[in-house]
Amino acid sequence: MCIFCKIVNGEIPNNTVLENEEFLAFEDINPQAKIHTIVIPKVHVESFNNVSSAIMNNITPFIQEVTKKLNVNSDGYRLITNIGNHGGQEVPHSHFHILAGEPLRGLVNRA
Ligand code: 5GP
Ligand code: ZN
Repeated sequence: MCIFCKIVNGEIPNNTVLENEEFLAFEDINPQAKIHTIVIPKVHVESFNNVSSAIMNNITPFIQEVTKKLNVNSDGYRLITNIGNHGGQEVPHSHFHILAGEPLRGLVNRA
């Protein structure tokens, strides 16, 4: 069973930000910004390659709810999903990173 499935079933503890029947948002263990939250579907899906349109349809308002709860909507945030080897995906359970809480620099920010 993958690390994130173990988080879903409670084998590995997490700091939950928000949860519903389908999705879980929790604090990243190794934050890359002042706020770093991971959002996952509770069902095991290996990567964005395998995510259904039904999951995407429902995860969108869930992520928006998480960003409201984190209070980052007006200052902004970055939403990232790493896919596979070249994408730098380490955990083989599809997830979105929400990075926020400070101005972000990086690959997709050429400022
Ligand atoms: P990836 O590189 O796959 O896109 O991102 C995986 C993320 O999961 C990393 O940012 C890493 O810090 C986080 N992570 C890995 N294991 C755990 C864990 O056991 N608990 C939590 N909260 N985050 C984890
Ligand atoms: Zn999994």
